[in-house]
Amino acid sequence: MIIGLTGGIGSGKSMVAKAFGVMGCMVFNSDDAAREIYFDTEVKAQVIALLGKESYAGEKVLNKAFIGSKIFSDTVVLHQLNAIIHPAVRKRFEAFVEQHKGAIIMKESALLFEAKLDKDMDRIVLVVADDELRISRVMQRDGLSREDVLKKIKSQLPQEEKIILSDHIIRNNEQELVIPQVMSVLEKLKAHA
Ligand code: ATP
Repeated sequence: MIIGLTGGIGSGKSMVAKAFGVMGCMVFNSDDAAREIYFDTEVKAQVIALLGKESYAGEKVLNKAFIGSKIFSDTVVLHQLNAIIHPAVRKRFEAFVEQHKGAIIMKESALLFEAKLDKDMDRIVLVVADDELRISRVMQRDGLSREDVLKKIKSQLPQEEKIILSDHIIRNNEQELVIPQVMSVLEKLKAHA
């Protein structure tokens, strides 16, 4: 069973993913995978062919500023880069699923709906928190300004829309305990398996 685990920036989905992991689910972090895939030999060669050697600042260091400058104003190049990265991440996820057959697999992804990956999931779990709390968490975690965080929040699908599209909601508002909610969702997921 493949479960999509999503939530807007600062909602706490990585924390919730860890809790599901402790309870025996196999968690695949799509955002980490997308970052790591740049260093896969085949992908690296393709990225260099598309953007140039400057894309890498070292053996395991991406030149994010350079890549950003290449894709920022050129949507064709952005699509070409996505056409390298997305299939490679998909392949890695398929290998992960194959490796963990029979387990509850959690695909953690910030942009599950935005990337239209929701249709490939058996169930969707959404982590939500009030905007103010999300803003202060991300400002503290990433050292960003309030405006920067607001920009990121606005670039994502609104939480209210995601709620309608999800099967289970976990509230991480620091008012309700999170672990009992995770346990309850897991019971429901198992009942549907
Ligand atoms: P992103 O989409 O940016 O990866 P996320 O949804 O994965 O964000 P987390 O990284 O899990 O969010 O949480 C954001 C920050 O808020 C982290 O520093 C985390 O430690 C903190 N945080 C999350 N939930 C709580 C909570 N219930 N109590 C206190 N701090 C929390």
